[in-house]
Amino acid sequence: MILPSDDAMPDLIVIGAGMAGLVAANRAVRADASVLVLEAGRTIGGMLRPATLGGVRIDIGAEAFATRGAALDPLLAELGLDADVVEPNQHGSWGYSDGAAYPLPKGGMLGIPADPLDDCARAILGEEAAQRAAADLELGPEVGMNAEHLADFVAARMGQTVVDRLVTPVCRGVYSLDAYELDHRVLVPGLECRLQEEGSLQGAIRAMRRGGAPGAAVRGIAGGMHRIPERLAEAIRARGGEIRFGDPVRRIAPQDDTWRVELMSGGSFEARNVIATVPVDGAIAPGTDVEALTAGPVAETVALRLHAPELDAAQRGTGILVGEPAGEVAAKAATHTSAKWPWIAEALEDGEHIVRFSYPPREGEGMPLTAGLDNDALRTRALTDLALLFGIEVQPESVRAMTRQTWHMPAPGARLGRSQEVAGLRLWAEDQPGLALAGTWIDGTGLANVVPGAERAALRHLGR
Ligand SMILES: Cc1cc2nc3c(=O)[nH]c(=O)nc-3n(C[C@H](O)[C@H](O)[C@H](O)COP(=O)(O)OP(=O)(O)OC[C@H]3O[C@@H](n4cnc5c(N)ncnc54)[C@H](O)[C@@H]3O)c2cc1C
Repeated sequence: MILPSDDAMPDLIVIGAGMAGLVAANRAVRADASVLVLEAGRTIGGMLRPATLGGVRIDIGAEAFATRGAALDPLLAELGLDADVVEPNQHGSWGYSDGAAYPLPKGGMLGIPADPLDDCARAILGEEAAQRAAADLELGPEVGMNAEHLADFVAARMGQTVVDRLVTPVCRGVYSLDAYELDHRVLVPGLECRLQEEGSLQGAIRAMRRGGAPGAAVRGIAGGMHRIPERLAEAIRARGGEIRFGDPVRRIAPQDDTWRVELMSGGSFEARNVIATVPVDGAIAPGTDVEALTAGPVAETVALRLHAPELDAAQRGTGILVGEPAGEVAAKAATHTSAKWPWIAEALEDGEHIVRFSYPPREGEGMPLTAGLDNDALRTRALTDLALLFGIEVQPESVRAMTRQTWHMPAPGARLGRSQEVAGLRLWAEDQPGLALAGTWIDGTGLANVVPGAERAALRHLGR
């Protein structure tokens, strides 16, 4: 329950003005609480960030949200953005491994094919491996149940080639992790149960797709996802909430019945209620492995606006995910943004396209492998990857604009071992009066996790 404070204190301090912080702050101001949001950087939105490419504003961070559970629907309606929700074009995705690009089978999940014997899966896997994958239908439902991670689970049911050629590109491209590092039970809750009911993995995938399972469908916002935090910030300020920038929170400490929130600059604030959407000292249980919760890969996103009519055919669908070994290709994924989102294509001139590349960290290093490249070298790198992945040569003078952004990616919620760490932290936080935790470090990656988690954190304070 929010305990009202005296005039000198806000009722609630929210740490971080990313989606989690803004959603929580919005919920609290709507309940008439006085709210102060403290943001380390100079902008709102965190991983929902716009970038301008020759006058066109695009998302350089999150560009879509998963529709599962309709988790964002009430918020978007409240912000007046529901009419701007858009579907991506359904051109399908491509994969790339061993020097070849291929369309990924439609209707699968995490790269696991819903029908390993369809023409597309057969072409990628080869006849022998496709037959092995289809033998999933003949296996007992217990096969794969002891698997520790996604790779073993899929290999047990469908064979190693499905892991290498279909699942690995999706895991690397989407989660920046190998299937050996991902916990399928967290990634797709209920998949094993469905397998028991349907008797096979492919049957389970088909059934879950029909039911709108994780990853099955995404939507975006015309004009960009970054419009959501912009609207939230407006709504918060309109109800008297304050957002302060440029001074990271260093730690929080309980004192009597309030929390003292200390800033890097040396200043501090006090409030009875705090929501920490990022890990700061004092908001973490002693003994917590913060690395396991927060350390995702450092990646660089590079978007090019090009004049390249050769791309009009959307020959790699909405984009391409790169498996291992990638050979000469440096990117781990490339989204053909203007083929994916009609609103972006409409903002461009004839023959223009936007392609967004993601670059992973260099092997064994914390920095993305593009980190040391100046803009000219980066453009050359991206055009080389365009040639390898899309099969077209584009000259540097056809690049009309380029933008780049380095990210400390969130640690994927499905990384092995992470869910136990989070459960321990949640239990500890429940015993801290006036403290609630939210955000991607605790609720997992993606807005379908972060938004409901932030709403719950606010409601904990509001006593509902
Ligand atoms: C490149 C990229 C693409 C993505 N694509 C998608 C997608 O398509 N769909 C999807 O659902 N999700 C996607 N995600 C994930 C999604 O964006 C995140 O899960 C979500 O936005 C996280 O919100 P958050 O508020 O928890 O964290 P953040 O967005 O990281 O916000 C945290 C905020 O806290 C601030 N901060 C940090 N430390 C301090 C401190 N000490 N004191 C004060 N402030 C601090 C930061 O500056 C930041 O503004 C993507 C992420 C990235 C990086």
